[in-house]
Amino acid sequence: MIAVQSEESAVKQRISKPIVRHWSLLAAVLLPLLLSLIFSYFAARNQLSHHMSSIGESLMNHSEQISDRAAAMLNRLQPFSAQPCNRVLIDIQRISNLNAYFRSIGLFEHHEILCSSAYGSLVRPLNSLVPDWFSLQAGQVSALSIAGTYGVPNRPAILFVQRNQDGSGSYVIIDGQYLLDFMNAVGRHQNDVFSLQVGDGYAIRNSQLAPDNTLLWHNFHLTLHSARYPITLSVDASASEFIRIWLQLLLTFLSLGIILALIFILLANNWLQRRHSFRDEMRRAIARDEFFVVYQPVYSNQTGTASGMEALLRWQRPNGEWVNPDMFIAAAEAEQMIIPLTRHLLSLIIRDSAGWQVPDGFHLALNVAAEHLQDESFLDDIRRFARHMALHTRQLKILLELTERSLIGDPQAVIGKLNELRREGFYVAIDDFGTGHCTLSYLQTFPLDYLKIDKGFVAAIEDIEGETPVLDTIIQLSHKLALQAVAEGVETPIQLHYLQQRNVAYIQGYLYAHPMRSDALMRWLKNPPTFPPDSKTPG
Ligand code: C2E
Ligand code: CA
Ligand code: CA
Repeated sequence: MIAVQSEESAVKQRISKPIVRHWSLLAAVLLPLLLSLIFSYFAARNQLSHHMSSIGESLMNHSEQISDRAAAMLNRLQPFSAQPCNRVLIDIQRISNLNAYFRSIGLFEHHEILCSSAYGSLVRPLNSLVPDWFSLQAGQVSALSIAGTYGVPNRPAILFVQRNQDGSGSYVIIDGQYLLDFMNAVGRHQNDVFSLQVGDGYAIRNSQLAPDNTLLWHNFHLTLHSARYPITLSVDASASEFIRIWLQLLLTFLSLGIILALIFILLANNWLQRRHSFRDEMRRAIARDEFFVVYQPVYSNQTGTASGMEALLRWQRPNGEWVNPDMFIAAAEAEQMIIPLTRHLLSLIIRDSAGWQVPDGFHLALNVAAEHLQDESFLDDIRRFARHMALHTRQLKILLELTERSLIGDPQAVIGKLNELRREGFYVAIDDFGTGHCTLSYLQTFPLDYLKIDKGFVAAIEDIEGETPVLDTIIQLSHKLALQAVAEGVETPIQLHYLQQRNVAYIQGYLYAHPMRSDALMRWLKNPPTFPPDSKTPG
């Protein structure tokens, strides 16, 4: 028997297992954490800008409402202008006291304040309120934010003035404290900095501190303009405020992330275990002799007899359940088990071949996986197999079936191996032809003997005159490349006839023979059925 697993590939597997496990588990932990970080970052940005525009808009609304009151008050004062102060003072003081927001209201003429709710008839220059009062447009309401007023120099205010054509006019001073209180109320928790400016005036701010600029990302800044008054409002949130929101959201996302991470770890672990256990299962199945080989005869149109057979692996579990070859071959390829499995197949064929008697020139076809062909153990494995086979069945030709996938990778190395093997008497077939991606010119560079047409193309033959352009092209191609064509999956007399008409040299399929176990095959070979079954093939 051939050793099931070489020392070297066993070592490779021992190393790769923990590495795959560590990387999968690391990814299962890091991925949710990374996602939590990214999602919470964008959610925090979103939350902060939403918060800024909502408080910005409410402060702007408030400022506009106060301005509306000031404008209404100026209108109310219009009838008093140009009247002596002592006649109207009581009314002016009463109106002022009854209305919130106003620090003082009053009347002026030319460049002097003649009457004020705060200072009565004390005459003061108008420029103690408005530095460039002379630029005030007659008939229009002008507004300006100022740092302070005559009596309250350290508290900002907003001044509204209306001047008539005759030089008389009225003014209203809104106390900036109302706005500052509002700013402090809405921005207190978030350390937001507001700055409100009316006209080109003084910027009313709730904090003289600029938001911290030390961090990598710039501050969050928003500017709003009123459509009705010359009010400009800017809102600044600090980077530290952003980080506070981000951390808060991160905690929420993180707890979700941790749950996700746990699920990922469970899934990754489960997947690794299943991979692991599938490999173990295959090793156990090899040890328990659950695999066996069936052989499917191939018919030669030239000799009218069986010219060879293809070895196909089968797996039946002890409970009687069959494992599909397509499935376990693909899994063995994915789990780096195909080389040990092929070596097992070879040992099973050697075991089967003890009692074989086959005609001269009979060929045995083996399916070779790409990974095995490209492995350095391949030549030794095949040569050792051939030496064992020669002990019983000297006249047997060995044919290696390679898929197009095997040829891609390191073509020069593959060409070298195939040349060596062909010199030693082996034959090479390209299997499942037409399902891979090899071009004609690429195929020409490989030393091949046979071309196996995949059963998918054969299944497309419906009647003898029907159009099967792809199949026809493949057949022509095999002729051009001077390769003997083998059609697999031939199930109907129509398909057989079609292929024979186009000079396809070999036929394999249920119509001729099903794959069978070694002893059944030997009985079948001694007494082969007439073929084609019905010599009057339709057509
Ligand atoms: P493949 O190399 O194309 O093998 C031909 C497949 O067609 C076999 O399926 C065979 O049983 C099936 N077949 C034969 N005649 C007919 C027919 O008339 N009609 C239909 N519908 N099917 C037919 P199987 O045995 O299930 O194997 C499937 C695939 O698994 C094979 O395709 C081959 O790629 C792979 N495989 C099987 N045994 C081995 C092995 O020992 N080593 C490797 N590397 N691959 C193998
Ligand atoms: Ca095959
Ligand atoms: Ca096939």
